[in-house]
Amino acid sequence: MRKHPIIYIFLDGVGLGVANPAANPFARFDNKFFGLHAGRSYQMPGDVVSTDAHMGIPGLPQSATGQTALFTGYNGPQILGRHVNGYPTYTLRPYFYEKNILKVLNEAGYNATLINSYSSAYLQRLNHPRAERLLSASSLMQRHSGKPYFTTEDYLHGRSLYMDMSNWFLRKMGANVPLVNPYDNGRKLIEIARGYDVVIYEYFFTDKVGHEQAWGAAKRVLRHVDAFLAGVWDALDAANETVVISSDHGNLEDLSVKTHTANRVGTFVYGREHYRFTDKVRALYDIPRVILDIFDLPFDADFKPSSPTPLLKEG
Ligand SMILES: [Zn+2]
Repeated sequence: MRKHPIIYIFLDGVGLGVANPAANPFARFDNKFFGLHAGRSYQMPGDVVSTDAHMGIPGLPQSATGQTALFTGYNGPQILGRHVNGYPTYTLRPYFYEKNILKVLNEAGYNATLINSYSSAYLQRLNHPRAERLLSASSLMQRHSGKPYFTTEDYLHGRSLYMDMSNWFLRKMGANVPLVNPYDNGRKLIEIARGYDVVIYEYFFTDKVGHEQAWGAAKRVLRHVDAFLAGVWDALDAANETVVISSDHGNLEDLSVKTHTANRVGTFVYGREHYRFTDKVRALYDIPRVILDIFDLPFDADFKPSSPTPLLKEG
């Protein structure tokens, strides 16, 4: 049976900004995909939906709570009553243990994975039984998805992607690999996705350079992401496949501040299930709910974690 994969890309820290080249890299540097992020209109095939990252809670949207919404469909900020930065907390982790979207899909017989690969040194840390609270949301999701983590070996054999789009960081870490064009890795993401029902890819340098307020790095990161997305768009068979991209909060679109921003984020959608997303996505937690709905799986709105520590007690 032909698969109709959903390719879900998480770009950390990318909000909808204004047309101010003095503060907004999307307004200062040429790009194809981020017009709406710079106070212009979106010009590529598909659509960008303005999406609420506050989810009913005042304050600056943050990572742990926002990514809980993006990867589980539950309202992270509402669960904690505030926006919390960093990695999923004691109270949020059970939503990842039991209800992360990859786990729900795999348990229902679909084939869903995080496509990022990990270095062996990092994997050693991740696989430590007490590592739960050292795990980013995506790492925690994959750990409880029923699928293994991909390794650098997998990446080099074309089975996964790395967290940078061009190998510059892999080379910086000492790997003997050539630089590649992010465009080619964008195409590769789609080829790999054809073996799955859902793949998730995470890219976080957008958030990192936003915190650093680093214009040179912002220019490079924007060039990489824009080329990567061009590869994704060119390779996508839009009649059969769907790409959806979102972010947990704003950051990169305003380099005048070190912090995240209060801006809404843009959810890109292109391909077969375009209208399912544009009809329903208003806030971050809607994205996984739409994905479940596409696979005829209910979202368990009444879920309450049975115990906050199903796996182990933390010190
Ligand atoms: Zn951040």
